[in-house]
Amino acid sequence: MSRPSSPAIRTLIGPGRYVQGAGALGRLGEHLRPLGSAPLVVADDVVWGFAGHEVEASLRAAGLPARREGFGGVPSAREVDRLVGVVRQAGADVLVALGGGSTIDAVKAAGFLAGTRWATVPTVASTDAPTSALAVIYTDAGEFEEYRFFPRNPDLVLVDTQLIVSAPAHFLAAGVGDALATWLEARATVASGSATMAGGLPTQAAAALARLSWDVLWDNALPALDAVRDHLVTPAVEKVVEANTLLSGVGFESGGLAAAHAVHNGLTAVPQTHGLAHGQKVNIGSITQLVLEGAPTSEIRDFVEFTTRVGLPTTLTEVGLRPSDTEELARVAAAATVPAETIHSMPFAVSAADVAAALASIEGFSRRVRAEAGLPEPVPFTGRH
Ligand SMILES: [Zn+2]
Repeated sequence: MSRPSSPAIRTLIGPGRYVQGAGALGRLGEHLRPLGSAPLVVADDVVWGFAGHEVEASLRAAGLPARREGFGGVPSAREVDRLVGVVRQAGADVLVALGGGSTIDAVKAAGFLAGTRWATVPTVASTDAPTSALAVIYTDAGEFEEYRFFPRNPDLVLVDTQLIVSAPAHFLAAGVGDALATWLEARATVASGSATMAGGLPTQAAAALARLSWDVLWDNALPALDAVRDHLVTPAVEKVVEANTLLSGVGFESGGLAAAHAVHNGLTAVPQTHGLAHGQKVNIGSITQLVLEGAPTSEIRDFVEFTTRVGLPTTLTEVGLRPSDTEELARVAAAATVPAETIHSMPFAVSAADVAAALASIEGFSRRVRAEAGLPEPVPFTGRH
């Protein structure tokens, strides 16, 4: 589902400024001041509870008002429209998303409609939403509805790694799932010569960032997760946060999405998967894409083994489904292959039947790989974490 564009043009887009490090939140006011004089921070109560004090202090130190609006939890059209009303009433000129991917997507969409600038301050490194010029809009029930594209990326992306390591490690693991897909999808998009979410052919730069993200994660994800469980900022954590956020963010947007994210979107069509993180469902999409590609068995095995160690789902069981759920899998496959989906950026034609078969096949494959590697059996997903 790429932007309409001339397919022969290469495009790379990215955020105006990317700032990352332990304690970066203390610099928020200083980086916001060039963007506007009337910021409005959007954060849910939980996030505001642990980060609000520092945000207020930083804004005040920069001579900016510290105003905050809550977030309803789902980036739906209704929530976006509500935020637009709040922004207009408040006379805000720069919107700041403080939170996870849902808050960030809602703020980008609201900032665009309200005519303000926008900045993202992710408190978890669980998606590659913070840097991009698009938002994923869901129904109020949590089903994928549409991609919305904006004429610019966030003016500022500010990531405080001290905040990231304060969050439970499963957020970082989900971000690894989202970021690993980036290279698989970019290489497919390059191979097919398809358009990217940035509205043109992939550049070499975006493909290189996608590949770098993949390499950084294979080297650093497991030690970074160990460190985050102990709430420690280490060089491995800094590298993985940058891979999940910046490398994957620019890599997916200007490198191209393909089957993995289309399968993710398809999975949201069945209620069994609601409550799973974006990156968890994307990992099932990555394995499905590898199967569809007929990738070497050793490559699929290594990917399943590694992502199981990361703590990502590698079986249908772990996303609330079974291979025998033929009706549900058919629905997922149908949603993943609608004409507008990015699965048609694969270098070969993919039908709904192909997707359903690939999805059903990963259960047995992954269970065998896990048994051979001495990894635990999958635990069924039965609802919200
Ligand atoms: Zn994603």
